[in-house]
Amino acid sequence: MKYVLKTAAPTRTPFDLDADLNVQQRTVVRAPPGRLLVIAGAGTGKTRTLVYRVAKLLFSGCPPERILLCTFTNRAAREMVSRVEELVGAHMQRMFAGTFHHIGNRLLRRHAEAVGLSPDFSILDPEDARTMLSSVIADLGLKQLTARRFPPPKALYSLQSLARGKQVPVADVIAEQNPKMLEQLPTIEQVLQRFAARKLAMNACDFDDLLGLWHELMTQPEHAKVAEELGASFSHVLVDEYQDVSALQGSLCERMADHCGSLTVVGGDAQSIYGFRGADFRQIAEFGRRHAEAQILTLTINYRSTPEILALANRSIARNRSGHRKDLSAVKQSGMLPAVIPLRDVYQQAELVAQRVLELHHDQALPLAKMAVLYRNHGHSLELQVELSRRGIPFAIRSGVRFFEQAHIKDVVAYLRARQNPRDALSWVRLLKQWPGVGAQTADRMALALAGLQQDTDTQPDAQPDTQAAVTVHDRTTLRDEAERAKGRGKAALLRLSKLWDALTEQHSAGPGEAIRQVLTQHYGEYAERTYPNATARREDLEHLAAFADSYPSTQAFLDEVALVQGVSAENVGGSDAPQDQLVLSTVHQAMGLEWPIVFLLALADGRFPSAQALRTDEDIEEERRLFYVAVTRAADELYLCYPTMEEGRDGPSRLLRASRFVTELDRVPRVFDRWDIEEAPTED
Ligand code: ATP
Ligand code: MG
Repeated sequence: MKYVLKTAAPTRTPFDLDADLNVQQRTVVRAPPGRLLVIAGAGTGKTRTLVYRVAKLLFSGCPPERILLCTFTNRAAREMVSRVEELVGAHMQRMFAGTFHHIGNRLLRRHAEAVGLSPDFSILDPEDARTMLSSVIADLGLKQLTARRFPPPKALYSLQSLARGKQVPVADVIAEQNPKMLEQLPTIEQVLQRFAARKLAMNACDFDDLLGLWHELMTQPEHAKVAEELGASFSHVLVDEYQDVSALQGSLCERMADHCGSLTVVGGDAQSIYGFRGADFRQIAEFGRRHAEAQILTLTINYRSTPEILALANRSIARNRSGHRKDLSAVKQSGMLPAVIPLRDVYQQAELVAQRVLELHHDQALPLAKMAVLYRNHGHSLELQVELSRRGIPFAIRSGVRFFEQAHIKDVVAYLRARQNPRDALSWVRLLKQWPGVGAQTADRMALALAGLQQDTDTQPDAQPDTQAAVTVHDRTTLRDEAERAKGRGKAALLRLSKLWDALTEQHSAGPGEAIRQVLTQHYGEYAERTYPNATARREDLEHLAAFADSYPSTQAFLDEVALVQGVSAENVGGSDAPQDQLVLSTVHQAMGLEWPIVFLLALADGRFPSAQALRTDEDIEEERRLFYVAVTRAADELYLCYPTMEEGRDGPSRLLRASRFVTELDRVPRVFDRWDIEEAPTED
């Protein structure tokens, strides 16, 4: 007899495509797997459509772990995943969704050995990487060269990064950006080789390696088996913000989709704003050429902004020569004309924003979180921050010094990193230097010993113990020996460190939060008292950090998050006293893909936005204009374009500032903005 078991799986999707999406968007969602490019302007529902496509794939039976979903910022990735979860009504942690770096990290941990790393490798953030590069330069005795135009580590690092993103030799980038530097090419290449070897010896990757090594796995003949396995583990690859992928990322998307053949990419060429970091919007143009069979679809209805805001955005982007011309049409009701507001100076600009925010908040009961203040550079927001604090308006900053980049956070995280990957000499140095009587030289020497690296041949790790336990014993005994041998002040300190280290390693299985608390109570609290004037605030940060760490299942998971989150401010780490409703302050770059009913744009003066550097070439101006387009299209209902007319000269007379060309060039009939004149009146009490 046949017995039919009724499964719980519903046969109809729990969402209604016809009601939720327009016909263009539904065509995208329903397009058969294959190469698919969606190219469309801002706010046309690209991200929304991608989310529905993922939900539909899941609903048609694709297991979540077979979906690879890439985007540019952590926030965007989190939002996409939670939208998918809402639609399908289930948790989707198994899905491979995140930034390219997150995904590279996850895949690389599985196959670390193939590229000469062990799976517990450390991730170096750009600051760590630059520190390491400086020490490579110093070790090669290039101090004198530094004086003679040898590029500073920061410049060299970004040149290399650019070259890797563009997939060209570093010499090409140097020839383009700074041909004089070519004289030094052989030395530069030697430095970069050493740098790569040192990272490997320390079992560490920088951000570029997370992509570069992943790419090696996918393309080098010796890794063919791994590439095959990785390719075969996904059924669909989907990418948002495709206009900002670099050649390297573009190639990664292709290689990951070679096996399954299903690659959906969405982007808007008018929104490409990361050219300075190697984004290559030709990837979009080439997509159709690479895949003759590719479907290319477009979306033209903007659901986000009022017709007034769109008219301004359309007129602005039409001035760019590159890119397709495609005006967006609005479905929203008419609203107010965008306001252009000349202000006396940055202080008056801050007052205007603060006052208007309060009006909207109190008179129209609009939550603060529905408003954002955007700017070209973080420095443009400083006076506003002061004004907001003065008036007690809570705000969250999505730019500037990031929570995890602060010295005290990195100091404590170094203990967890060294415990996880004892070959991480950089973390050893960082933590050793905190102990009294341990100078820079001693710290360097000890770090190499503890990491099992030899002093001069920094590329050769000592015989590598192959189990975690063996590694741990090795660094514990080394530390104890060093402490015994030390003299003077250093001895007492190292004995204490050795004790702390024993405790930390014995409790390796306790969570990362516990380890942070241990470092804080046994050492760092006291260290902070001695070192920082605001020790109490730092201690509180570290307590928040411990609580935040408690939510991670393992130290590795926690460390990955710490290294990879970009733009996370203290508020996000769960400061319990952080108010729920906050005004958002963000750079335009960090605001990519997001939206708010009310948007203020600061410092729209020539030389600020567009920035002074961008005034040099036409391409730079066009990229800057795309940035302006991204900024204005974040606004749904009201847009305020503010600029100071006077700059406080540091030691001379003040200088006049002109309105940004991005504003003046729009000044034609029919009008797309309204100019506000500011009149000062005494406050009524
Ligand atoms: P950006 O270019 O800024 O990344 P986008 O093209 O990805 O924008 P979304 O963020 O997906 O656009 O959508 C913009 C807004 O319009 C969102 O609030 C979204 O929910 C809404 N929206 C998009 N399509 C529809 C639709 N068919 N019906 C109702 N709302 C929609
Ligand atoms: Mg989007």
